[in-house]
Amino acid sequence: MADPTGTPTLTVAAPSPERTGPPSRIASAGDGRRHVGVIGGGVAGLTTALRLAQGGHRVTLWERGKAFGGQAVAFPVAGGHLEHFYHHLFQSDRDIAGLAEELGVGDKLVWLPSNVGYFADGKIWPLNGAVDLLKLGFIPFPDRVRLGAVTFYLQKVKDWKKFERVTAHDWLRRALGQRAYDRTLGAQLRAKFGRYHDQVAMVWFWGKIWLRTTSRRSPLDQEKLGYFKGSFNTIIDAMVSGAREAGADLHLGEGPSELRQRSDGSWDVLIEGGEAVHCDTVVSTVPSPIMARLVPALPGDYRAKLLGLTYEAAAVAVLEMDRKLTDIYWLNVADEAIPFTAVIEHTNFYGPEHYDGSHFLYLSKYLETDHPYFSMPADDLIAEYLPYLKRLNPDFDPSWVKRTWVFREKAAQPIVTLNYSEKLPDHRTPLANLYLANTSQIYPEDRGTNYSVRLGNDISKLVLGDLARATAG
Ligand SMILES: Cc1cc2nc3c(=O)[nH]c(=O)nc-3n(C[C@H](O)[C@H](O)[C@H](O)COP(=O)(O)OP(=O)(O)OC[C@H]3O[C@@H](n4cnc5c(N)ncnc54)[C@H](O)[C@@H]3O)c2cc1C
Repeated sequence: MADPTGTPTLTVAAPSPERTGPPSRIASAGDGRRHVGVIGGGVAGLTTALRLAQGGHRVTLWERGKAFGGQAVAFPVAGGHLEHFYHHLFQSDRDIAGLAEELGVGDKLVWLPSNVGYFADGKIWPLNGAVDLLKLGFIPFPDRVRLGAVTFYLQKVKDWKKFERVTAHDWLRRALGQRAYDRTLGAQLRAKFGRYHDQVAMVWFWGKIWLRTTSRRSPLDQEKLGYFKGSFNTIIDAMVSGAREAGADLHLGEGPSELRQRSDGSWDVLIEGGEAVHCDTVVSTVPSPIMARLVPALPGDYRAKLLGLTYEAAAVAVLEMDRKLTDIYWLNVADEAIPFTAVIEHTNFYGPEHYDGSHFLYLSKYLETDHPYFSMPADDLIAEYLPYLKRLNPDFDPSWVKRTWVFREKAAQPIVTLNYSEKLPDHRTPLANLYLANTSQIYPEDRGTNYSVRLGNDISKLVLGDLARATAG
């Protein structure tokens, strides 16, 4: 369980890493056991630390934040914990579900009915299947039929490669017609990708449709989404405990500022504050621009790939209220006069009974980091957003709001551009014994906690194989 400060409780004490000041030396044991450093304590870093420690290596992980969990971390709220950023799982998210089983928290993963809507023309339109789609009165009937046909077609396509070379903007506009595109999927692309909306490859959009399709048993089934009782901290705490029990040494509030390679190919990890820790191998799970800064010695073409990867940021307001705003869990807001682009009413999914009766909702906006909302004081952002809630529910009164928070993330959503597979940096960097595993390398699926678990599983297999070969050689 997480403690009331939101910091996951530590269950097993682990030895401190050897620190001797720069440069330091830790001799690798002669039994093939190596010292592997892992940078970043989000889902990918924790999975990597767990697997490498289970593989018999000495592991040290550094997370510069105040809690483990990265983008999926939850903070304490009335009666429980809630993610900084809304989170759920799809039924196709088998890697994280499998890990939860393995770590003994499989019974905490619950599958609950989801409920989607669309706000347009001053009205909430439920959107939970084909029948709702045919009733979407804010577009003409032939456009609804076309939208249904396009969605159905995309659900059947398995060969995503052809979607690498065309933007979602061009493909969908052609398929739907300008009018339907502008009011539906085009509006969603603009909401998610802002100034990059016409650069996103169709493969990204296909991935979203595909995930949702494989998440339902039949198109007529009501969709069920997954959530961890007690928040995503439940699985994160289990990963922290599991990694520590396997012998990994996990550090909070410590972020490496530079990685320097020695002439023998091993690495000095320079911790902010001046200490250095010697590792044989390093796996970094931080976003690509941070990786480029951390390792000045990375060769130009690999560095150019890292710096060429762009992310959309997110600014999310969380409201605790004494009652619900709407009946919908996930409401896309297709009204450009409203400054947020989705309302995720968490307690319409995982009920208020888990939060001492309080209701929680997120007002979400993806944006670029130079957008004023990304740096504006939290109270100003809330003051900007609140008046618009009346449009979603005319009875809304600010007195319903008991508490507010604002959370922001720079690397919220990798922007998948044309021919993305050619732009992906390899997991093995050009520098020996240095690996990268971050969200921008998740492809063709969209990023998500499931794929960060998969990333951690895959990168650790790669590292374990390389270490075994190096020892044998
Ligand atoms: C608004 C929003 C909604 C989302 N909704 C969902 C959802 O519904 N379902 C879902 O599955 N996923 C969702 N996600 C995505 C999911 O949370 C992420 O894809 C996943 O958690 C990424 O994990 P990661 O470990 O790969 O990266 P991160 O979580 O980004 O972890 C990287 C870690 O590295 C740390 N770090 C950075 N620099 C340093 C340094 N120098 N030294 C040490 N540490 C450093 C960071 O503090 C961070 O903890 C959402 C994300 C956002 C932003």
